[in-house]
Amino acid sequence: MTRVLVVEDEPQIVRALVINLKARKYEVDAAPDGATALQLAAARHPDVVVLDLGLPDMDGVEVIRGLRGWTRVPILVLSARHTSDEKVEALDAGADDYVTKPFGMDELLARLRAAVRRAEPVGGADGDGENVSLVETEGFTVDLAAKKVHREGRDVRLTPTEWHLLEVLVRNTGRLVSQKQLLQEVWGPSYGTETNYLRVYMAQLRRKLETDPSHPRHFVTEPGMGYRFER
Ligand code: CA
Repeated sequence: MTRVLVVEDEPQIVRALVINLKARKYEVDAAPDGATALQLAAARHPDVVVLDLGLPDMDGVEVIRGLRGWTRVPILVLSARHTSDEKVEALDAGADDYVTKPFGMDELLARLRAAVRRAEPVGGADGDGENVSLVETEGFTVDLAAKKVHREGRDVRLTPTEWHLLEVLVRNTGRLVSQKQLLQEVWGPSYGTETNYLRVYMAQLRRKLETDPSHPRHFVTEPGMGYRFER
């Protein structure tokens, strides 16, 4: 059973979400404001949070920061605002994805499922007993368990920083990872604005792993936002 925490102050949206989620066998808790959301998250340990950014008592970004202090639960943001700045701010604070209001229920449910799926741990065995810690592209293979990268039959030598950056991106395959998230996960919590580090290290990874480093297929830049690893 997947437990969803819906944080939203508009009763009509809450009602629609609760009905649709329960019909699909999700367990649902609803919070009308940020303070209740933080309490419910601590008490109920949801598997995913759907969070409106415009709340009566605090900005939704503050809720993201509050949650990220102790949990990596996937957070799907609902935003009525359209500016890229706000989306970047929410992603930087630790949101996983966003849906712009007004949203289609099907799209929201698809993104919710994707967020839950991504949160499942990489590694271990899947249903076929196959090792899923191996991430293969046509040019190279990343072995997350052994912390090795193979290209054309050889180990690629990566520095610990290069490895850590690669690992964060690969664990989020197909998904935008914000510049700030990368900096904080790889370099540490006091980093966040040193985007030049990222440019330098991404160039190194591309040089070591891309067939054509000046036209990367796997290490994709999302200008002004972050990076995305594509298999
Ligand atoms: Ca609202």
